[in-house]
Amino acid sequence: MPPVDPALGLRADLEHRRAAGLYRQRRVQGGPQQPQARTDGRPMLAFCSNDYLGLANHPEVIAALQQGAARWGVGSGAAHLVNGHSAAHQALEEALAEFTGYPRALLFSTGYMANLGVISALAGRGETVFEDRRNHASLLDGALLARATLRRYPHADAAALARLAQTAGVRLIATDGVFSMDGDLAPLPDLAAIAAQTGAWLLVDDAHGLGVLGREGRGSLDHCGLATGQVPILMGTLGKALGTFGAFVAGSHDLIESLIQRARPYIYTTASPPALAEATLVSLSLARRDDWRRERLHALIARFRHGAAQLGLPLADSPTPIQPILAGSSARALDWSRALEAAGILVTAIRPPTVPAGTARLRVTLSAAHTDADLDRLLAALAALPGLDSAVTENTRTKISRT
Ligand SMILES: *Cc1c(COP(=O)(O)O)cnc(C)c1O
Repeated sequence: MPPVDPALGLRADLEHRRAAGLYRQRRVQGGPQQPQARTDGRPMLAFCSNDYLGLANHPEVIAALQQGAARWGVGSGAAHLVNGHSAAHQALEEALAEFTGYPRALLFSTGYMANLGVISALAGRGETVFEDRRNHASLLDGALLARATLRRYPHADAAALARLAQTAGVRLIATDGVFSMDGDLAPLPDLAAIAAQTGAWLLVDDAHGLGVLGREGRGSLDHCGLATGQVPILMGTLGKALGTFGAFVAGSHDLIESLIQRARPYIYTTASPPALAEATLVSLSLARRDDWRRERLHALIARFRHGAAQLGLPLADSPTPIQPILAGSSARALDWSRALEAAGILVTAIRPPTVPAGTARLRVTLSAAHTDADLDRLLAALAALPGLDSAVTENTRTKISRT
């Protein structure tokens, strides 16, 4: 038989995705992250950014990046372990450790790499990593890179985890602090208790809690009243509420030193630009200081939930700026997203495999930079969605099913 052109398989797969409503497409933004966006050349009101505090386009953060570039140049030139680790990186690690209350913090280029790095450094073949079913893909991929056995427990179900943990040795438990597609919180005190009883590591990924929850925006742990001693590993990202880019892991001195020795996504990559660390130092201090941003955000969350409830929209149980509206099928989520787009409002449809099959949704996110008038425009457009009535009745039957 003659060899088959391998590109033919790609074509068939792409066609299949398009038919199933699963085709992913990028849009081109013509300006900075802010509610008044320019998308594919059209003015749009955006409700899908993770820039929860409105810091991504803050003049002081921009100035710090520019001054940082003037001092350090642009590229870091090398990995942290070669000669890419600058005094700016060092100062940011110290500030993040102080902020989170851990002895040390270690910068990673991205949150995806931080999760891969921690899990693969701490778990290996023959060891079991337990993860919430709705964890971010990077936590799941971390267990794959580690070649560990990955076991997923039902969403936010600490009792189920405790039962499963009795039958298998537990090396590490990993969870989102705030779930990225649902906006709800993990049962952190219960998970901490299980980790302590089983002698497992507990890793909390607080990508969506930092800056948003807790005193000074310290995140989910502070929100839940947990001490740092109860959660040995905290991962945080800098590209969401902090408005810049990158990530860090906080923990004990020995943990951080071990990551420096072992975490391949830390070792084998170029350090991020030092100027970016300078910008993050400024955005971190703004995020801590400006309680009004968090107050504004939480007022918007309450206003949105009140308005959406009055419309009978299927809301999730979320106290955070992530407010998903369940559509069910991918086709309906896409229809809704397109209908909002026609009304000048940008909310992306989130479909499987990012969320479980049958739970495609609009992932609405709010930012301190939104005005009440912005929110009212969103609510008016949501009220006019096609097929909303049938979605509401279906959803009251199924709720967001626990998977
Ligand atoms: C965004 C996100 C990440 C990845 O962080 P990046 O810095 O964007 O790579 C990891 N975990 C969660 C829960 C996230 O939402």
